Amino acid sequence: MLMEYIPFLKPKVVPKQYYQRYLDEIDESRIYTNNGPLNKRFEERILKEHFNHTGAVVTVSNATIGLLLAISQLKRQGKYALMPSFTFPATPLSAMWCGLEPYYIDIDPEHWCMDEHKLELALEKLGDEAAVVVPYATFGTQLDLAYYESLIRRGIPVVIDAASSFGTTMEEQDLTSFGGAIVYSFHATKSFGIGEGGIVYSGDLELIQSIRRSTNFGFNEERSSGQLGLNGKISEYTAAVGLATLDVFSEKIKIREKIGEWYKEALNDYKLLESGWKVQAIAGKIVNQFYPILCPVDQENRFYVDKLQALAIQVRTYFSPPCHRQKMFDYHPRTSLAVTEEISRRILSLPVWEDIRKEQVERIVRSLIHE
Ligand SMILES: *Cc1c(COP(=O)(O)O)cnc(C)c1O
Repeated sequence: MLMEYIPFLKPKVVPKQYYQRYLDEIDESRIYTNNGPLNKRFEERILKEHFNHTGAVVTVSNATIGLLLAISQLKRQGKYALMPSFTFPATPLSAMWCGLEPYYIDIDPEHWCMDEHKLELALEKLGDEAAVVVPYATFGTQLDLAYYESLIRRGIPVVIDAASSFGTTMEEQDLTSFGGAIVYSFHATKSFGIGEGGIVYSGDLELIQSIRRSTNFGFNEERSSGQLGLNGKISEYTAAVGLATLDVFSEKIKIREKIGEWYKEALNDYKLLESGWKVQAIAGKIVNQFYPILCPVDQENRFYVDKLQALAIQVRTYFSPPCHRQKMFDYHPRTSLAVTEEISRRILSLPVWEDIRKEQVERIVRSLIHE
């Protein structure tokens, strides 16, 4: 019997009829970029609909540029950018473009974000050499903002890689007082996918103004370059797709929540958690980009990648290899990375896309059963 192929992702950005009316506005205004009217509306709606009208936000061409510009604006004197190795290469690369050396901190075995205790020990050891801390909000989970705020109060700048967190609930998180930068990605493969794009958010309005200037060649009011910058803007076309995506995002969130529920049910039905499989301890309600899971301790993700491939199911292993195992980053200093090693050896990223069907999720989970 020929099995239906299940790809890992099948991104679905809003179709053109959803943003046609915004495109018509572009033809009318003849403004194509440079913080045009659609971009302004996009930013205002993001702030209103997702940040309770507090703080400030600036669109950027992608999250990597957002990270780079935020780190460049916030970093203090010093040599190192402290971050997890269990992240996407964009995190260390953006720090390296700012002339910093990544210093890898191990992650927590439950929530898979940077281990705050190990981070504290490293900060103590590095002292003034720590230029910035760049935590990653792993797979969309909430970070302990109060802790990172306390770092900022101690004079240590913080830039959060929240690339996969747009749409995560933020109850009990006071963002207004957060003086660091939080960077989100709108890449087509993310839950709020628009093609390419992203935002930088902060409770510090001046910081966002400064990052906005840095996305436009560092221009000041007189269009004279007054600070380090580049071209990191989005076009009005991207803003059009962004606005149309905001129009339907609550529907997309529901669909992705439902897929997450299907995974949970199937994992229970097939008793996988009882046989050693493990899911992430998530804070807040996330919008699933994919479904991460650890295989039992005595097994390896490679086995399941091959097994599922043979069953016409494509899975990935984010983030394996972790950054410190990749040539570009393998010489960087680090704490012990025992937990990172273990989790990256066991991690599987299971398919999530908006029109995946319940029986496909069940087939994926069934395929994990080790005979
Ligand atoms: C996707 C991702 C990025 C990069 O986002 P882009 O918008 O593609 O530049 C950075 N960090 C993490 C953790 C990501 O998942």
